[in-house]
Amino acid sequence: MRYVSTRGTGPPVPFRKALMAGQAADGGLLMPERLPDVSGDLESWRGLTYPALAFEILSRFTDDVPEEDLRALVERSYSPACDGAGFDTPEVAPLVPMGDLYLLELFHGPTLAFKDLALQLLGRLFDYELERSGETMNVLGATSGDTGSAAIAALRGKSNVRVFVLFPEGRTSRLQELQMTTAPDANVHCIAVEGTFDDCQRIMKALFNDGGFKARWRLGAVNSVNCVRLLAQVVYYFHAWLRLPPDLPNGKASFSVPTGNFGDVFAGFLAAQMGLPMERLILATNENDILDRFFRTGVYRRGEVRRTPSPSMDIQVASNFERFLWWRLDRTGEAVRAFMSAFDSKGEARIEPGGAPPGSDRIVSGRADRGETLATIERWYRRTGRVLDPHTAVGVKVAEELRSDVPTVCLATAHPGKFPDTAPAGAKVGHARLAGLDDLPARKVVVPNDAGRVARYIESVCA
Ligand SMILES: *Cc1c(COP(=O)(O)O)cnc(C)c1O
Repeated sequence: MRYVSTRGTGPPVPFRKALMAGQAADGGLLMPERLPDVSGDLESWRGLTYPALAFEILSRFTDDVPEEDLRALVERSYSPACDGAGFDTPEVAPLVPMGDLYLLELFHGPTLAFKDLALQLLGRLFDYELERSGETMNVLGATSGDTGSAAIAALRGKSNVRVFVLFPEGRTSRLQELQMTTAPDANVHCIAVEGTFDDCQRIMKALFNDGGFKARWRLGAVNSVNCVRLLAQVVYYFHAWLRLPPDLPNGKASFSVPTGNFGDVFAGFLAAQMGLPMERLILATNENDILDRFFRTGVYRRGEVRRTPSPSMDIQVASNFERFLWWRLDRTGEAVRAFMSAFDSKGEARIEPGGAPPGSDRIVSGRADRGETLATIERWYRRTGRVLDPHTAVGVKVAEELRSDVPTVCLATAHPGKFPDTAPAGAKVGHARLAGLDDLPARKVVVPNDAGRVARYIESVCA
């Protein structure tokens, strides 16, 4: 399998190169050249464990990693580890009924958010590749809260990788910040940027697009600009579908996805393109609703970032949107370049009206504001005794509005214990993996919102 850029220039690259490159050389994002059709394999996959299913799916994208190596990497990524570092359930991503919906629990990894499902594998793949080449790498990531800790959990203590995490100062939850800054390992560097997550992501992209800087410091990406992360996320959509009752009417299910950077929901879109019987893919945003507005009107217009109870979704410029756009614009790099440059210069771009709907019939969207999110948490707590985290609650609220008559799976993207401030009064939401973080020493540097200043900090550490 080869990987091509959404901007359409530069040669296609093999899997291992796509893994290490992160972003494409022309500033675009890498995508598999074609998607495998697995619809004929679904029945034979029933009963596979999570790692076995992950191997079946990922092996179709990785013809330059020997099968036995891939199998071992996947097994280690998704096994419950005895030292408390791995997943805390052998199911990895349990599907549990909640009222007339299903919750897909993606928070059983070391940092209690869905980012672990991709990063546990990505970290091991990096290690594997660096062992083979004898090289080292500096991973640079931007986080709205959860990618940072998941990347640190996957890479801490490794001798061939340093991790630099940019996060918006004061805009993550307290526990999210502590999960990052209390890692004692010398290869972990937390950089608090005086700005928003969009600023962090812009700085990260600027440094990746500076070819000289990227090559000199051998930068690698853990954000969903790295397409391997998305491929790993495709797996749990299939895993969930395979665990629904086998006698679904017409075999279909819908999925609801709380969305920020458009990575998770785009993985669902890929799963559907690969043959997963999916009726609706419900994209749910909080008040930072640029994507909801796009899928309702075809106009992509930047707004101000607002603080909400679901900080991991406080994003206006969703980097993976470019991947969808590429698909929607018939995979023409030229059209993607025109759209993105209009958006960069005017803060607005649109899909020409008259064609197919912006979401290609499958993606439908909605939003939940602060009051609706908190009310959803209360309502489900009273009805079922279950506490939803505020991100999951956004997805559940929009699913209740947009579901049709097929089973609807709501992605539960974080454990409620990470966000105790939004839990209903009296509810117990703690988690052993979060206890005691307050007592550990924390380390971070605070840096102005400026790519040059971040670059100089990275150089001062690496030089
Ligand atoms: C990252 C994150 C999201 C948003 O996922 P995207 O892939 O950025 O759309 C939602 N919920 C939680 C808890 C997250 O950490």
